[in-house]
Amino acid sequence: MPNSNTSAAYKIIDHDYDVVVVGAGGAGLRATMGAAEQGLKTANITKVFPTRSHTVAAQGGIAASLGNMGPDHWTWHMYDTVKGSDWLGDQDAIEYMVREAPAAVYELEHAGVPFSRTSEGKIYQRPFGGMMQNMGEGPPAQRTCAAADRTGHAMLHALYQQSLKYDADFFIEYFALDLIMEGGECRGVIALCMDDGSVHRFRSQAVVLATGGYGRTYFSATSAHTCTGDGGGMVLRAGLPMQDMEFVQFHPTGIYGAGVLITEGARGEGGYLTNSEGERFMERYAPSAKDLASRDVVSRSMAMEIREGRGVGKDKDHIFLHLDHLDPKVLAERLPGISETGKIFAGVDLTRQPLPVVPTVHYNMGGIPTNYHGEVVTLKDGDPDAVVPGLFAVGEAACVSVHGANRLGSNSLIDLVVFGRAAGHRLGEVIDRAAKHRPLPKGSEEMALGRLDRYRHAKGGSPTAEVRLAMQKTMQADCAVFRTEKTLAEGMARIDQIYQRLDDIDVTDRSLIWNTDLIETLELDNMLPQAVVTMHSAANRKESRGAHMHEDYPDRDDKNWMKHTAAWFDKGKVSIDYRPVHDYTLTDDIAYIKPKARVY
Ligand code: FAD
Repeated sequence: MPNSNTSAAYKIIDHDYDVVVVGAGGAGLRATMGAAEQGLKTANITKVFPTRSHTVAAQGGIAASLGNMGPDHWTWHMYDTVKGSDWLGDQDAIEYMVREAPAAVYELEHAGVPFSRTSEGKIYQRPFGGMMQNMGEGPPAQRTCAAADRTGHAMLHALYQQSLKYDADFFIEYFALDLIMEGGECRGVIALCMDDGSVHRFRSQAVVLATGGYGRTYFSATSAHTCTGDGGGMVLRAGLPMQDMEFVQFHPTGIYGAGVLITEGARGEGGYLTNSEGERFMERYAPSAKDLASRDVVSRSMAMEIREGRGVGKDKDHIFLHLDHLDPKVLAERLPGISETGKIFAGVDLTRQPLPVVPTVHYNMGGIPTNYHGEVVTLKDGDPDAVVPGLFAVGEAACVSVHGANRLGSNSLIDLVVFGRAAGHRLGEVIDRAAKHRPLPKGSEEMALGRLDRYRHAKGGSPTAEVRLAMQKTMQADCAVFRTEKTLAEGMARIDQIYQRLDDIDVTDRSLIWNTDLIETLELDNMLPQAVVTMHSAANRKESRGAHMHEDYPDRDDKNWMKHTAAWFDKGKVSIDYRPVHDYTLTDDIAYIKPKARVY
C-alpha cells in the first residue's frame, strides 16, 4: 500500500477521453480505429511502438470463408472452430466470428493490407490445420488469407495508419499500471510514461484491454518478451475473474533450441514431419488430416514420438519438419520469412535440409471473459453474463470464448479484427457523447502508485530475473503438453511458493525513467498471479480436452466437465468456479453442433 504522501511524490497528468484502449496490436488497433471512426475521443496507450506489437510476428494468415481458392462456407468454418475448440467454445460467439470474418477481411483489404493474390487478382488463401470442407468431412479448405508470411506485420501497418487517419491519440511507450474501478465500474486507467517518468491518469467512459497473451510465463515460447499478460494482471487485481486459463496452446513447430515459430502455413504449403525412422508419423495419428490436424493433436503426437524414443538429434528430443521437397520458387514466394528464420535460428537451408522443431508455447485460449461485443462479464453466480460497466477486452487478452480448449491456426487474427470491430460498434452504442465526465473517486491512483512505490523501492534478496526464471521453469516442467495429478500437485506447491517471492524482490535501479528492471518487475507481478491461476485451474480439471491433456484422466468428460473455468485471485489464494458453455447459436441459421469424438 502507498504511504500517505505517495501521490505527492509523483507528477500526475490528467486526461479525459471517451475511450481508452490499452494495447496497439491487431485487436487494440482495430478497436481504436472503430471507436475513433465513430467520432469518439479515443486514446491508445501502448508499451511498445504499435507496429512492434506481437501481432507483427503473425505469419501464416487470417481465416475467413471467402472461397477464393475452392468451395467454402461460414458453416464449415464454424464446424471446424467448434470441433477445434473440443466443444468448449461458445457457439453463439463462434457463429458471430465466422459470419463476420469475410467482411472484416475485406475491410482490411480496403484499409491497405497487401494480401498475396491469385492469378485472377483475388486474395490468396492457403490451407491450415483443422480447416476442412463439408462440415469436417474434407478435403482441406483453403481458408487462410495471407500476405506472404508477413500477414500480422501488414495488418499492424494498415490499422495504425487508419487509426491516425481518424484522429486517435497515441501514448507510445506508456506502461499501463492499473484500472481505476469504482463500485464495480471501470472509470479509467493509470499509466507510467517510460520516457520521462510522469504518471498519467486517464478518465474515460470505457477502457478496452487489448494487452495480448501471457506466453512469457513459460520458459520456451514463440511469444515476444512483451507478452506478459498485463491486462490479465490488472483484471485479477480488480477482483475480477479470468476464464479457462488451463488451456495453453503448444505450437508443433517452434525451432528447437530457439523457440522461434515456423508457421503452420509451412505445412499448409506441403511441409511434413518425420521421426528418427524417417516415418511420416502423423499418418498414424490423424489418418485423414495428417500433418494438418489441429495443433493440440500434432503437438501431442510429436511429444509421444519423442517419449517413445523416436525423436531426432543427439538427445532424441525433437522432430524434423521437411520443406526440402518443395519447389524453391514456392518457398521464396510464399514463405520468404521462414527461409530466413530457418537459416538464422537453426543454420538450415530449407531447400536442402529438414528443420529441427519441437512443440513450444504459443497461445493462450484463456483470458479476460467477455461476451461477443467485447464487454467484460463478471461470471458471478446468478448472472454469469452480467457485464462490468465501462470495461472491454479484445484479442488474445480476452476469452470470448471462440477458441475453447484449442485454437485453430489463423483463427486468432480473425478474432482480433472481428471482436476489435465489434467492440468499436458497441462503444458507439453505449457511450453517451454528450455526457460530462463525472469526478473520479478519491485516491483513484492509489493502487497503481502503491505498486510502483513497492517495487521501485524493493530491496529484497531475489532479483526479478531469478524469480521469473523459476516461474518459467516450473510452468514448463509441470503444466506442459502432458500433465498428471503428480506434476500438477507439485506444480501448485512450487508456483504458490514462487509467488511469495514477490515480497522479497530486489530492484536495483530506483529511477522512473527507462528503468527496465522496474518495468520487468511490474510485468512479473502481472504474470505470476496468472501462472498460479493457470496451474490451479489445470489441477482442478479432471479430464483431457483440447490443449489440456491430463494423463490420469485421458478422456474428454462432457458430463462433468463441459464447462468454463472461472478463477479469482486474492493475495496468493485462488478460488475457482465454473459457468456453463453456451449450448446455443446466435441465430436459427445453424443448429447447435452437438459434441462427438474429435478425430482428424
Ligand atoms: P499483441 O499483438 O500481443 O499486442 C499487445 C499490445 O498490448 C501491444 O501493443 C503492447 O504494447 C500492449 N501492452 C501490453 N501490456 C501493456 C501495458 N501494461 N501497457 C501498455 N501497453 C501494453 N495467429 C493467427 O491467426 N495467424 C497467424 O498466422 C499467427 N501467427 C503467429 C505467429 C507467432 C510467432 C505467434 C507467437 C503467434 C501467431 N498467431 C497467429 C497468434 C497471434 O499473432 C496473436 O494471438 C495475436 O497477434 C495477438 O494480438 P493482440 O492484439 O491480442 O496482442
